[in-house]
Amino acid sequence: MGTIIIAGIPGAGKTTVIGKAREEVSVKFVNYGDLMFEAARSRGDVTNRDEIRSLPLDLQKAIQIDAAEKIERMGKVVVDTHCTIKTPKGFLPGLPVWVLERIKPEVIVLVEAYPSEIVERRAKDQTRIREKVAFKEIEEHQLMNRISAMSYAVLTGATVKIISNHNHSLMECVRDLVRIIEKGD
Ligand code: AMP
Ligand code: MG
Repeated sequence: MGTIIIAGIPGAGKTTVIGKAREEVSVKFVNYGDLMFEAARSRGDVTNRDEIRSLPLDLQKAIQIDAAEKIERMGKVVVDTHCTIKTPKGFLPGLPVWVLERIKPEVIVLVEAYPSEIVERRAKDQTRIREKVAFKEIEEHQLMNRISAMSYAVLTGATVKIISNHNHSLMECVRDLVRIIEKGD
């Protein structure tokens, strides 16, 4: 297995899907946001992970590259991250070329859900500070993720796999992810 990127907009459920998949496979997983949060918190820049995307962009990019260097040293892993981060200044690529060069993904998996499901999940998740947005913005963000995923693929030769995480079909989504991790498809 090569390095696998798992991305999905907040509320798509990628952390839940990854949590279940981890019960079935024994590969190394890393959460990109955890690495960035540790770096930002230790510098006193944030107190919760949802503040990271509002930091000055230079700082976001500096801790982004720091995290990429850490992941590079881990070898082949499954990475929970984002294709694009919605910042006040626009969409920030989660995997700009200097990150891709370090992580070298073999597969980029996009976890998607319907906008209605995402709105509902964001409202339910009290552990996170997630902006309430219109369906159209969710559609736009998922579209930007598809576009950026394919661009990352063009740059690296990785493939892009889209998996759906709809309400009542979580375990199908988990099965899809486990299959990608175990068999590559
Ligand atoms: P998450 O818990 O996956 O939503 O990640 C928490 C935060 O970490 C995100 O809201 C982003 O601000 C940041 N983050 C995660 N992955 C990346 C990335 N590849 N590039 C830049 N920021 C990221
Ligand atoms: Mg998450």
